[in-house]
Amino acid sequence: MSDRIIPIIDLRALNTASAPLAPSSNDSDGTKANGVLSDTLHRPLHDLRISVTDRCNFRCVYCMPRQIFNKNYAFLPHPSLLTFEEITRAAKLFAAHGVHKIRLTGGEPLLRKDLHKLVGMLSNIRTPAGTPLDLTLTTNGALLAKKAQLLKDAGLNRVTVSLDALDDGIFKRMNDANFSASDILHGLDAAHKAGLEPIKINMVVKAGMNDQQIIPMARHFKGSPFILRFIEYMDVGNSNGWNLNEVMPSRDVIKLISGSAPDMQLIPADSNTDIANIINNNINEATAQRWKYRDGSGEIGVISSVTQTFCHTCSRLRLSTEGKLYTCLFASAGHDMRQWLRNGTADEQISDMIAQLWHQRSDRYSELRSSQTTRPDKIEMSYIGG
Ligand code: SAM
Ligand code: SF4
Ligand code: SF4
Repeated sequence: MSDRIIPIIDLRALNTASAPLAPSSNDSDGTKANGVLSDTLHRPLHDLRISVTDRCNFRCVYCMPRQIFNKNYAFLPHPSLLTFEEITRAAKLFAAHGVHKIRLTGGEPLLRKDLHKLVGMLSNIRTPAGTPLDLTLTTNGALLAKKAQLLKDAGLNRVTVSLDALDDGIFKRMNDANFSASDILHGLDAAHKAGLEPIKINMVVKAGMNDQQIIPMARHFKGSPFILRFIEYMDVGNSNGWNLNEVMPSRDVIKLISGSAPDMQLIPADSNTDIANIINNNINEATAQRWKYRDGSGEIGVISSVTQTFCHTCSRLRLSTEGKLYTCLFASAGHDMRQWLRNGTADEQISDMIAQLWHQRSDRYSELRSSQTTRPDKIEMSYIGG
């Protein structure tokens, strides 16, 4: 497997522009935003992930390894960042094209000053059907205890919190920034009190590093208001030195938890999850596959981005911190939306280019992964927004 190790290099600067999109001419109607877009694989545009900062107070080994993201790393200068007004204008155009869910992410989104003001602005947007957007946030949780209520009051619906271990030694080795699990647990409590529900917890499993925390984490959150999800370690970006040997397949996670004690037995939670198919590794119905405890005390999820790909249902577009649009987490190039937002391009023309972008989309990296794993030009997760 050693030929599948990705070298540790920062190739962000090699990000080249992909095929340019042209606004339609004045006498053309372009593609009218009618809430329905479809790409070349007949996938709709439903979800927008907006990265509000490329900075983070953690240095998770699988995302922002300290040997790359150190004091010499050139994070984006402030004028490069989309302003809240620019983000909101973009979000309105996307909502007109069918986006009904927006996730704020990063880097660590709670590091962006006055984030609650952006949440307030986004919460006023309506879909073509007149409904508010589903507004959510993914955070490492370290600042959540302070900010949960403010975000809820501003209009945030719910949060996903990342937590890779309960054991402090292991958690600190994963975040490489000396944060304790108790900091995050306080954040989770605050989010629960504020009503930012349903609250999901993301645990990235890196084999040999935190896999011994799978059972303690499952046990801790069993019967709690939180839904724990296990994520397969992905080969996103070029910095994390990804190695297939460090991926623990979701089916092994399910087997491990189920076999750990009689009260930990899991069964599929809905008709999308079929136990035979999961174990045989050949279905890919949704991003997270849901499992519930046989004794009725809650559920967990698994996100099998490596072993059971879900590209064929992927309806996600990503807007980077500096306003580039990426049609896939594993893209090597984005479209510069910021220039459209800053150079006087009319809403109708931007809307038209969004439609062109989605119509042209053919990404399905995870399905093709085996042949592309060593491709060296992928964008870092902390930049594109996880
Ligand atoms: N900083 C926030 C956080 O950690 O929740 C938001 C951004 S982070 C990039 C979003 C999600 O991506 C987190 O749940 C994180 O665990 C996950 N992630 C980052 N690198 C990953 C990798 N190589 N494989 C799988 N998941 C990863
Ligand atoms: Fe920061 Fe989130 Fe990446 Fe960890 S996963 S380094 S918390 S952006
Ligand atoms: Fe979507 Fe790209 Fe991930 Fe496939 S690899 S699920 S197309 S983001």
